[in-house]
Amino acid sequence: MRFPAIPGANLVGLGGPGPTEFNGKIAVITGGGSGIGRSTALLLARLGATVHVVDIARANAEAVAAEIVAAGGKASAHRVDVGSAKGVETLAETVYEADGRVDILFNNAGVGLQGPVELTTLDEWKKIINVNLMGVVHGVHFFVPRMLAQGGGGHIVNTASMLGLYVWPEFVPYATSKHAVIGLSEGLAAELGPKGIHVSAICPGVVNTPIHESSPIHGDFADRRDEVAKWMNRVGIGPESVADAVVEAIIHRQLIRPVPRIQVQPAWALRRISPRASGAVGRMVFGLVKPK
Ligand code: NAD
Repeated sequence: MRFPAIPGANLVGLGGPGPTEFNGKIAVITGGGSGIGRSTALLLARLGATVHVVDIARANAEAVAAEIVAAGGKASAHRVDVGSAKGVETLAETVYEADGRVDILFNNAGVGLQGPVELTTLDEWKKIINVNLMGVVHGVHFFVPRMLAQGGGGHIVNTASMLGLYVWPEFVPYATSKHAVIGLSEGLAAELGPKGIHVSAICPGVVNTPIHESSPIHGDFADRRDEVAKWMNRVGIGPESVADAVVEAIIHRQLIRPVPRIQVQPAWALRRISPRASGAVGRMVFGLVKPK
C-alpha cells in the first residue's frame, strides 16, 4: 500500500516511502508541535509509524497530530512540559496504556538562549538545563525501564546540536546543555546497546525553525532579530532534512549524527584535534555574523 504524501515530509536519499522497518512502530516525539519534531512526526507517520506528538504548546501538538490523521496516518497529541518529571511520567503511563510499547523515543524538545554569559540570569540557566537536559533525562528515566521490559529492542534519539560537539561564544548555557546531551547519549549507547536499545544523538547545524524567534537574546543581537533571522535563512537547512537524518540515524544505528555534515563535521573534527583552535574558529565565525 502506498502511503499518501504528507506535505512537509521529505525523504532525501532514502529512495521514497514504502514498507520499512517503521511500519506499525510506536514513536514518541517531544517538541513534536514545531520545527524538527514536527517534520520527524510527519515523516515517521508517512513511513507507517503511530506517532505520539508531545509538546508544551497543546494547539501545535494537536495540529500536527490532526495533519497526520487527515493524511491517513495514526497519531495522538499530548500536552506535556518535558521539564516536569510528573508530566513525563504521566505521558509514559498514557502511551503504554494506549499502545503497550514504544519503539522510537525522540527526546527533541528544546529551547534556545543567546547572549554574553554575564547578562544571563540564573533563572535562564535553570530553564535551559531543565528543558534541554532534564527533559531528556525524564524521557530516559520514565521510558527506558518500560522499553527494556517490553522486549524487542528500540531506538532512542536525542536532539543535541552542533553546539554539543564544539562551542561558539555567547551560547554558553545552550552549549552546556547540549554537550551534556552528547555525554548522556554516548553513555546510554554503551549501556543499552547490548540490551537491544540503540541510541543516537542528532546534531543539527543551523535549521530554519521558529526557535530563533522564540529564544531569549541578550547583548548586541538583542534588537537585531531581523538580521539574525535573515542570516539563519541564508545558511540554515529545512527541518525536513533533519527528519531525514533522524530516520537515517535509526536505520544505520548511528551514534552521533551531524546534519548537514558539511556544516558540522569539519568543526567537530577540529575540536577533537585541538579544543583551543576549535574555540578560536568558533569565535571567528561568530564574529562574522555579529552585528557591527
Ligand atoms: P522549535 O521551536 O521549532 O521546536 C521546539 C518545540 O519544543 C516547540 O514546539 C516547543 O513548543 C517545544 N518545547 C519547548 N519547551 C518545551 C517543554 N518544556 N516541553 C515540551 N515541549 C517544549 O525548534 P527546533 O529548532 O525544531 O528545535 C528542536 C530541537 O532542535 C531543540 O532541542 C533545539 O535545541 C535543537 N536544535 C535546533 C537547531 C536550529 O537551528 N533550529 C540547531 C541545533 C539543535
